[in-house]
Amino acid sequence: MRMTHQRQMILDVLKKDYQPKSADMILHLIHDPKLNLSTVYRTLDAFFNVGILSKSTIDNINYYYVTDHKHHHYMVCTQCKKMFPIDCHLDEIAKDVAEKHEFKITHHDMTIYGICKECQLKM
Ligand SMILES: [Zn+2]
Ligand SMILES: [Zn+2]
Repeated sequence: MRMTHQRQMILDVLKKDYQPKSADMILHLIHDPKLNLSTVYRTLDAFFNVGILSKSTIDNINYYYVTDHKHHHYMVCTQCKKMFPIDCHLDEIAKDVAEKHEFKITHHDMTIYGICKECQLKM
């Protein structure tokens, strides 16, 4: 995969923090008039396919984050939409069911929804 300037910019935005970002959010964070949404989508897809990025689908929107050694999932506050990384405990279960059903797992996804501490205090 060729690393163009635009691709590098998209990756840099995602590397800044652990908050997963949608294509829309990324476009707003990169101040480049030459960059458009379909390029962002295509780039995220390409990164996802080679394993550089992981994604979580929340309310039908894909959120991307950099895949690191410590694979994780997210807990999402339905009030403020903040995302909290959580450790993954699914690998064991996934291995188990894959063997049972002779299923070849390519990836998995899990998101926990709720209300964060800060939002609970405001209620
Ligand atoms: Zn919240
Ligand atoms: Zn996992």
